[in-house]
Amino acid sequence: MIDIPESFAPGLYIHIPFCRSRCRYCGFPTSDQSDTGRISRYLDAVIMELHGVAPGWNRFDSLYLGGGTPSIVSLPELERLVESVNRHVKLAMNLEFTMEVNAGDVSRESVAAWTSFGVNRISLGVQALDDRALHLLGRRHTSAQALEAVAIIQEAGVALGIDLIFGYPGQTQSDWVRTLDHVASLHPDHLSCYQMTVETGTEMAQQITSGELIPATQDQEASLFRITHDHLTRRGYDHYEISNYAADAGRMARHNTKYWFRIPVLGIGAAAHSFDGRRRWCNAPNAESYWLDIESGRSPIVNTESLNTVDETIESIFLGIRTRWGFPCDRLPPGAGSDGRIRAMRDAGWIREDHGRITATDEGFAVADAIAEVIIAAAGYV
Ligand code: SF4
Repeated sequence: MIDIPESFAPGLYIHIPFCRSRCRYCGFPTSDQSDTGRISRYLDAVIMELHGVAPGWNRFDSLYLGGGTPSIVSLPELERLVESVNRHVKLAMNLEFTMEVNAGDVSRESVAAWTSFGVNRISLGVQALDDRALHLLGRRHTSAQALEAVAIIQEAGVALGIDLIFGYPGQTQSDWVRTLDHVASLHPDHLSCYQMTVETGTEMAQQITSGELIPATQDQEASLFRITHDHLTRRGYDHYEISNYAADAGRMARHNTKYWFRIPVLGIGAAAHSFDGRRRWCNAPNAESYWLDIESGRSPIVNTESLNTVDETIESIFLGIRTRWGFPCDRLPPGAGSDGRIRAMRDAGWIREDHGRITATDEGFAVADAIAEVIIAAAGYV
């Protein structure tokens, strides 16, 4: 039986676009946090936006502080933000409150404060457990700091998700197996294993262009993906989305699941994306343009897209096939299921039909985006 998530309440995402320094591969719109006055000004704008739009939404059952690096916000400033959320936003009693945290920011004192603010899930950016790799990626923490952070968070009894990256230049299969075995032996509640994406214009992209670094090939990436699946599922983790593994169904990331199921999410802050069930919109991309909009009473929204029925169907297929729930067969027009291209993927063992849904198999997960493209073409949606 496929256990579809039961909650369809909306989620609230608040973006904190500040980092101490830029990782070598990252193209996210982030700002240096050297001037704490900038963070304060930004949070003023976030609180104003929140007050303006959040009351019009139904009760949220997930709150996600993402970045950037939310853990660089000082404790008094963070408390101010959370108090404001509690005062102006309808929150469910069983709220999942996740905060993204960099390993170098964790101390007993900070974790105790975050939990006193209501954080009950920490998404810890570990990325690698090898100091050479961390240096290559431009991360500020060491592997020893990451392990200490894990111990502190687990001691505090907060649900822990660990983020890792695979497929970085020079990474071998044995490097990755060692990392996976080590991380799994720590028994985190959740693991996100992201395939390396080197954004254009970043320091690492230049190193690749100049030949200083050799990127992983597609075959190497596919092998690392397969190794991840094999190692973590053997350790009992549920591979429920392409990049995500939960220790059990109760420990899946409720907030992230909303994106895959196209459940409404309100995004607050610079570059934050929102979805209300029919429309998607996003805010001004950087902190300065965002707070200038808010301070001058302008809407920070820079782009809105209304989805028609075909757009919605295409999204359901693209997002669904990346999860183990797949998408409902009735998303396809009558007869499309017997199209030769779809039959071929079924015969190859990449997809299957289960309880009225089309899902990717373990083999199919590795090529989920390509599968979605074929299905969408076969269904005549493009
Ligand atoms: S990867 Fe994360 S921590 Fe590093 S610069 Fe990008 S947003 Fe900041």
